[in-house]
Amino acid sequence: MKIPKHPTLIRRFLQARQKQLQAKSPVLAASLVTIRRACGNPNCRCARGKKHLGHYLTWKVKAKTHTAYVPVDLIPQAKQWTQEHRRLKQLVRELTQLSLALIQTHVTAQRHKRGRS
Ligand SMILES: [Zn+2]
Repeated sequence: MKIPKHPTLIRRFLQARQKQLQAKSPVLAASLVTIRRACGNPNCRCARGKKHLGHYLTWKVKAKTHTAYVPVDLIPQAKQWTQEHRRLKQLVRELTQLSLALIQTHVTAQRHKRGRS
């Protein structure tokens, strides 16, 4: 996203993104990953190298990574909910940049005003 210079344009960009800020599904702040794992049964094929492929959600709390198993029939939902989180996160990032730009243009404008008088 290119940040516009003019405050009116910045406000227009902000409003467009504010409208997109509503969640369209549940929101899940985690990553959906596939992990190969051994189940622990010494007689299972996974003990001889053919490990089980499973879907997991991973997320971090205070630098510690947590993992949750996702059953096969819930994978589409987990995918959608994590994607929705990514979309909202990106929107918040852009809203922050635009809000900061608005504050900074205001500061610059004030400085010009003071310089002139
Ligand atoms: Zn196994």
